[in-house]
Amino acid sequence: MAENSGCTHDCSTCKENCSSRAPQYDAPHKDSNIKHVIGVVSGKGGVGKSIVTSMLATVMQRRDYKCAILDADITGPSIPKAFGTKGDILSTGDGLLPLATKTGIKMISVNLLLDEETRPVVWRGPVIAGTVKQFWTDVVWGDVDYMFIDCPPGTGDVPLTVFQSIKLDGIIIVTTPQDLVSMIVGKAVNMAALMNIPVIGLVENMSYVRCPDCGKELHVFGKSKAEAVCAEYGIQLLGRMPIDEKLSALIDKGVIELMENDYLESTADAVVKFCNK
Ligand code: ADP
Repeated sequence: MAENSGCTHDCSTCKENCSSRAPQYDAPHKDSNIKHVIGVVSGKGGVGKSIVTSMLATVMQRRDYKCAILDADITGPSIPKAFGTKGDILSTGDGLLPLATKTGIKMISVNLLLDEETRPVVWRGPVIAGTVKQFWTDVVWGDVDYMFIDCPPGTGDVPLTVFQSIKLDGIIIVTTPQDLVSMIVGKAVNMAALMNIPVIGLVENMSYVRCPDCGKELHVFGKSKAEAVCAEYGIQLLGRMPIDEKLSALIDKGVIELMENDYLESTADAVVKFCNK
């Protein structure tokens, strides 16, 4: 490594992860022109990472940006389900074609490769990681302003592959008040720092429930620690989303694009600002 005298300046034969290591990102398909790539990550499953990815892409598509979702989360078919998107991934010989949602968000998902959406993915980590990589290198994405990558939870093979092979502009961390928020956020922040990826900020999902009678915020999982944790790690709190039964109903029907709320408007503002600074 460059910090010590044994450095050969040949990163391909050295396993040290030092500050001199130049990341070797994969190039997207020659007919893909993707301006910004945002990873959406979480410490564990079920916190709403996929719903945040779907809603954020929906908000940005409404703002007339050309959006895409690369769904790398094999733990469930959340993204295709949220949009009600079904179909085969077709190949032109030159590359794979993404599917499109009702409003034209381009999308590809490991889950679209399965015959039945309830069948679990039993592939090994490296195979999934290879498929995700292929979704970046072999899919003809065309012109995309913002691509959102729904990363699987945690720090396994697949998120590592995403971080190491795709040049991300930044990541968004999704948590809930129930998580051991500080530790989980700390892990995500440290992993991003190791990979030299900026953290755009944090979205706290299931932050509260709004009382249908008096409109008060009810903190069913305890008072939010998001602000304190963001301050601790020097990251921005992008937004807080309530538990909203309308959202689950829209997802059940596969029509998340019909949502009527402004929960992620501030997050979308922050993404645009971050990517254009
Ligand atoms: P993850 O991607 O983190 O595993 P999902 O986005 O798939 O989590 O969300 C898990 C489940 O919780 C889904 O059924 C989703 O519809 C529901 N859910 C998540 N966030 C909310 C919310 N704010 N309001 C209502 N339902 C939600």
